[in-house]
Amino acid sequence: MLSMRGDCFKGTKVKTDLARSRARKARRVEKVAENAGIAAAIGKEPLIASKQGLGRPRTRRKVLPRRMAFNRLEAACKTFVLLRAKHRGGVCEIGIVCGGNGPIEVWYHVTPQALGNALKYDARNILGSCHSCNGGEYFARKRGSPVYGSRHRTILGNEAVDWLQANAGRKQISTREALDMAIEYEKKIAAGEWRDGAVPM
Ligand SMILES: [Zn+2]
Repeated sequence: MLSMRGDCFKGTKVKTDLARSRARKARRVEKVAENAGIAAAIGKEPLIASKQGLGRPRTRRKVLPRRMAFNRLEAACKTFVLLRAKHRGGVCEIGIVCGGNGPIEVWYHVTPQALGNALKYDARNILGSCHSCNGGEYFARKRGSPVYGSRHRTILGNEAVDWLQANAGRKQISTREALDMAIEYEKKIAAGEWRDGAVPM
């Protein structure tokens, strides 16, 4: 019975496989074209995937536009928020461990990155802090200490912090979106927009 059913549908199955394979090939061609477009827009040499440790060595150049776009976004976003922090006061904006005299060394996320990437590149969620205050936040959170939470509310105000907490979480950010956000930050940096506005931007 089973084998009969198999025979009956054999022709259909072959056709389906062929159609699927064609669709895969078409998607691949589309993806390669899209990636080439994004790589060109980024305007940098395509990255070459590292040689695989096992099996046949990879000799073909592999473009990794997603990584390139996110690297560019992270660099632009960090530059923007650190310039903004340096312009605002020039010292660590958190000031809990350093006492407010620490240097601006890292981007500091008000809602932690552990909650998800939805606000990872959102300048409203980022301040400039010293290493010690940034590291201290992690330990305070683990202990359930309210010190950082109230500091955030002092700096940004209740409304802004509530908004950040409501909007934190995970988000699917496409390569195109990441690139567009990177370009947006680069434009703001070039225009000196990090000088404008109070907290939050
Ligand atoms: Zn500090």
